Amino acid sequence: MTKRIKSARNDGPMKLAGHIIGGFDMFYEEKSVEVFNPATGKVIGKTSSLRGDELNFIEVNARKAQKHWHHEVSEQEKETVFRTIIKKIENNRGNLVRTMVIESGKLWRWADAEVQETIDTLWHYHGEISRNHTHDGFVRCQLPDKNAYSVRVPYGLIYGITPWNFPLAIPFWKICGALAGDNAVVIKAAEQAPFIAYYAVKLITEAIRETITDGRQTKLLGLVQLVQGMGETSGKLLLNNLNYDKVAFTGGAETGKIIAETAGARLKSCHLELGGHAAMVVLDDFDIDLAVAEAINANLGDSGQRCVSARVVFVQENKYAEFLAKYLERAKTRKVGNPMDFETEMGPLISREQLERVGAQVHNTSQFNLKLGGYCLEFVHNDPYQTNGYYFEPTVFASLPYGTTAMDEEIFGPVIVINPLPGKSREEAFWNGVELVNQSKYGLSNALLTNDRHLASRAPWHFKTGLLYIGRGTTGAELNKYFGGVKASGWGKEGKGLEEWTQVVQVYDDYHGKARMAQAGTDEKTKKMISESKSSLEN
Ligand code: NAD
Repeated sequence: MTKRIKSARNDGPMKLAGHIIGGFDMFYEEKSVEVFNPATGKVIGKTSSLRGDELNFIEVNARKAQKHWHHEVSEQEKETVFRTIIKKIENNRGNLVRTMVIESGKLWRWADAEVQETIDTLWHYHGEISRNHTHDGFVRCQLPDKNAYSVRVPYGLIYGITPWNFPLAIPFWKICGALAGDNAVVIKAAEQAPFIAYYAVKLITEAIRETITDGRQTKLLGLVQLVQGMGETSGKLLLNNLNYDKVAFTGGAETGKIIAETAGARLKSCHLELGGHAAMVVLDDFDIDLAVAEAINANLGDSGQRCVSARVVFVQENKYAEFLAKYLERAKTRKVGNPMDFETEMGPLISREQLERVGAQVHNTSQFNLKLGGYCLEFVHNDPYQTNGYYFEPTVFASLPYGTTAMDEEIFGPVIVINPLPGKSREEAFWNGVELVNQSKYGLSNALLTNDRHLASRAPWHFKTGLLYIGRGTTGAELNKYFGGVKASGWGKEGKGLEEWTQVVQVYDDYHGKARMAQAGTDEKTKKMISESKSSLEN
């Protein structure tokens, strides 16, 4: 199914996306890898993997900075750092968007939305800095002259591993959570989109330098460090050897297994935000045109490269034919092309590897059920600028059961399955929908499209999912809301508060002044019980 893919080169001066370690830029030419513009296939610069001898430097800087940030920097100063970063991002908004479009192939509007999400993230965690983080306020003790309370304290050093599909927002979810929780953080950027992370961490470093003065800024040089390079080299090197306290991972389920196994073997905490196979259930009372529009956005937005992208729609049988026909009509006319062009509705996939992978997964799925697309697009609108870009056609399968690739695997591209949902009545269709959705090994994001209030209210108790959309497609996360999956989609929740970024200390404050224990009785009572009791174990 995959057509021939050529590669193109760029002869211009090389741009370098290096590591930022202890406030220094580092780049190892001998470990460099090329970075491509997915819209053109041209080399836009280079990034480099890490050297093992930097590990100690990373850790020493991070530990020093965390100690200082936690104990010596006031809440007001931390808030000022966050506001300064926001100002810098706002001032550089256009440049950040442009960089993201060039290296990730995102449409301008989605890249801009991602910058906004990054700003929202900073504001959310700005609020968390001064929030009262007492875990549970007043707790009565079993004994008098004793207080009990719990506090949330930082982990220390967080290792955040991030994917390319939200190359700015996801690093910021981790950076902001970690900093608001008083941790230091080392971010591993995705090798496919290293420039946006590099520019953003530069802005953070500048903001810290400008806000925390009096020479104290030098102690904070390791607060946010950035490591670039391949997962197999840089990612693994840190995972296996850096003395972090927690790893916060976002990426694919296969990599997630490696992260969990390694962190487990090292007895390190971890949370995982993994892939998904989002399903939409459409019942017959819902407006079909709106359902189609939601499904198009949920599947083709970011070229199907969101963890919450819709992979399957189950449409109640009496509306199935109408839905399928209207979806095909809209998907066919989708304008695919240069993400820099404002009129473009869908851009390229991230890389040649991803293009080939999607092609192979589509090929492995039954061709009998293919209704649209199925191929890489070699020439887009005959525009020579884009002839080597990584474009894949909007692709639709119909009536596919579980047990096929497109139903069982996350195909990270513009590929969707549209299936009829059996059910003569709406209620019957609802329960069939619940059963079908829950068959998936994933459980990140699912949706129910109905106007039936009773069924909608029941839904959260029955779908096995981390996120549930009611009345719209599976897309869009908001800050100050929990984000994360269940089953093979991961453990833990990001996007809200400090739960993942801090841990609980239970404090007992005993001012009684005499030795005692909560559950032990008085000496007299104990003596009496010994003399009066007997057990069948004694003769
Ligand atoms: P990936 O798992 O291939 O890579 C993610 C990151 O892990 C990259 O930085 C990579 O270099 C690093 N990595 C790879 N192997 C490693 C190893 N052995 N040790 C340490 N680090 C390693 O994922 P991807 O292709 O970059 O991203 C797409 C995937 O991410 C999709 O499955 C998508 O669903 C998922 N995702 C999930 C969420 C979520 O919040 N649940 C959000 C975005 C993306």
